Amino acid sequence: MDIPIHDVLLVGGGAAGLRAAIAAAEADSGLNVAVVSKVYPMRSHTVSAEGGAAAVMREYDNLDLHSFDTIRGSDYLADQDVVEAFVKEAQDESIQLEHWGCPWSRDEDGRVSVRAFGGMSVKRTLYAADKTGFHMLHALFQTSLKYNAVTRYDEWFVTSLLVDDGRVCGVTALNMRSGGIHAIGAKTVIICTGGGGKIFPFTTNAAIKNGDGMALAYRIGCPLKDMEFVQYHPTGLPGTGILMTEASRGEGGYLVNNKGERYLSEYIPGKMELGPRDILSRAFMYEMREGRVFDGPYGNYVHLDLRHLGEKVIDEKLPFVRELARNYVGIDPVQEPIPVRPVVHYMMGGVHTDINGATPVPGLYAAGEAACVSLNGANRLGSNSLTECLVFGARAGAVAAEYANSREAPGPDTLENLTRDERRRIEQTYLQPRNGRERVADIRTEMQAAMERGAGIFRDEETMKETCETLKNLQERFRNVGLDDTSSVFNTELTAALELGFMLDAAEALAHAALDRKESRGSHSRSDFEDRDDEEYLKHSLTYRTEAGPRTEYLPVTITRWQPEERKY
Ligand SMILES: Cc1cc2nc3c(=O)[nH]c(=O)nc-3n(C[C@H](O)[C@H](O)[C@H](O)COP(=O)(O)OP(=O)(O)OC[C@H]3O[C@@H](n4cnc5c(N)ncnc54)[C@H](O)[C@@H]3O)c2cc1C
Repeated sequence: MDIPIHDVLLVGGGAAGLRAAIAAAEADSGLNVAVVSKVYPMRSHTVSAEGGAAAVMREYDNLDLHSFDTIRGSDYLADQDVVEAFVKEAQDESIQLEHWGCPWSRDEDGRVSVRAFGGMSVKRTLYAADKTGFHMLHALFQTSLKYNAVTRYDEWFVTSLLVDDGRVCGVTALNMRSGGIHAIGAKTVIICTGGGGKIFPFTTNAAIKNGDGMALAYRIGCPLKDMEFVQYHPTGLPGTGILMTEASRGEGGYLVNNKGERYLSEYIPGKMELGPRDILSRAFMYEMREGRVFDGPYGNYVHLDLRHLGEKVIDEKLPFVRELARNYVGIDPVQEPIPVRPVVHYMMGGVHTDINGATPVPGLYAAGEAACVSLNGANRLGSNSLTECLVFGARAGAVAAEYANSREAPGPDTLENLTRDERRRIEQTYLQPRNGRERVADIRTEMQAAMERGAGIFRDEETMKETCETLKNLQERFRNVGLDDTSSVFNTELTAALELGFMLDAAEALAHAALDRKESRGSHSRSDFEDRDDEEYLKHSLTYRTEAGPRTEYLPVTITRWQPEERKY
């Protein structure tokens, strides 16, 4: 097979990947752009986003306020130049998305509707009922079809990044339909592979969110940034982890404990249900310690009560919440409160990039949840991340296009040689029948349990050390993994094994970064260091992969106009 060579190659067809592909195609119509995705783009996790996308759209709002909310929400770890660029470009991106066909919900007077969201001072979250991600992804996907320059590799699974002479020159990918492992050459690669919630046992994230892109970059020497910050969303369904969107609190829903109290008055009286996610998730844990939560077959929970909103508002603004609650817990929120508890939702950390999505490795870029451009710091505000995918997807697409224009295409012989090694690695590691084999599912379950134990809502030195040790042992055991299925067509056991490899790397980076940060900030809450320590830790962590295990370095935070102060609501 001839090796295809592209100017800009996107790994990922979610909001960030498609926005970047459009930006690259628009930057120069002569460029040849490719989108590789392990699922059809419309099945990317973006499709399941419910609540909305933040942008300043009203006369009572302003860019400085959106910046301040984001920076305070981040517990002062966001880079402020990044935040300022974000809030400005979020406006144009949101309007452009409507022109591309995104049906934002509207008020009676015809203006785009906005709703309240946690940690935002005013209503600024645009939405399309509570199926925002579906509509956004649809608008992006259909727009991407306009460009002949964009080639798609649907259901191709990227297994590695190819590097020649220190520069990224393409990827190797498994064609899931045939089982073949091929090189796809590229002058630039943009990682848009989304988050990695599946390294934890209990998450709102789709099964395809395994930290693939983070591990791909980490393996070629690119550092991961701020990996210790993991967002728990306070309202997932017990059992499945399915999300009850924050919009249900934005529209006025209450959180109630087993005493019938709106318990947030004890923890965050100024904001109540509209507080940021880290604080609300911790409040649940405190209530649990006090025995003020319900006990169910899937563990403890509290109530999300929407009854006072009435059927009309629920059907108009939260139809999906009603549908999910009915289908998954047999509860109609018009009549009864919904059981909810905190679940892993989002990774603030990811592939280290600058403000344009460029990584330290020449030719490699990243955007969306897989990246850490340093917008979200230690805690993301809900509804900032869909807009983040647009703003920084567009930036990464444009700068990668520019760089591609200045670069020679990689040679087919180099690509083929590099790919031969990867093909051999996969065949020898996974597809040879062997004795004494480890099972993918066992290692995955043990990894998830270790992550919840050591890197959950509350953390301390001793349990985190145990988690790091467990992960090291699991990496060892993973070398002995074997598969029952050695067939070639849609071998999902093979992709599960490759995903487990990615997750173990991302989990190790996360656990070590968490162990090394001896303070509490945003979502990273240490029982042994309860205060934020700006003297020592007002800095980003950068985790590098080494033979001896993950190594942490630090990078200063960019402060422009907002000096760190106590985070009060
Ligand atoms: C249930 C839910 C609700 C949410 N609601 C909101 C909300 O209301 N507002 C908000 O701002 N944020 C929300 N978020 C967060 C937000 O949706 C995500 O952060 C964002 O959509 C991520 O987009 P992305 O393009 O970075 O990645 P994704 O949409 O996750 O796409 C990743 C892409 O990478 C591809 N990929 C991954 N690995 C590989 C590989 N090895 N080879 C090839 N392709 C690969 C996948 O096929 C996919 O196309 C929500 C998240 C969840 C889980």
